[in-house]
Amino acid sequence: MARNNYFNRGDEYSEWHRSIEDSSLGYIDLDCVEFHKSCGCVLFVAETCRWTGKNYKNTTLTRKIARKLEVPAYLIFYIPHNHTETPNFLRLENGCYYDPTMRFKIARIENFNYNSNYPLQDYSAREWVQHLQEARVLHKCNSNNI
Ligand SMILES: [Zn+2]
Repeated sequence: MARNNYFNRGDEYSEWHRSIEDSSLGYIDLDCVEFHKSCGCVLFVAETCRWTGKNYKNTTLTRKIARKLEVPAYLIFYIPHNHTETPNFLRLENGCYYDPTMRFKIARIENFNYNSNYPLQDYSAREWVQHLQEARVLHKCNSNNI
């Protein structure tokens, strides 16, 4: 059964749900919901996965959720630096500190129609932090979430 072949184990609810022997039940863990801290609006949703060199990841439901919410969706492959010591955090011009040791291969996917050959773009940790901050700054809020 495919659901037993995941490399990464989910939390206990995920594992429990996957153990149900009813193939008509569908379930995913939505990995990432980036939101605006002031208004609570969802800025994007994302699927995250450690990069293994294979440009494949099932993102069908993540893309569907993003389209329903009318927000972007990303596939974020992360490449951690293997370090045993606490990383030396770096500082952006705006005063934000971040861990520079992570690198990424990221594709914007809400309108993508496949689960492989994503149009991946390389990001350093600094570049992705700046992208996250830009998404927050450019957010045009028209919600009543406050
Ligand atoms: Zn908002």
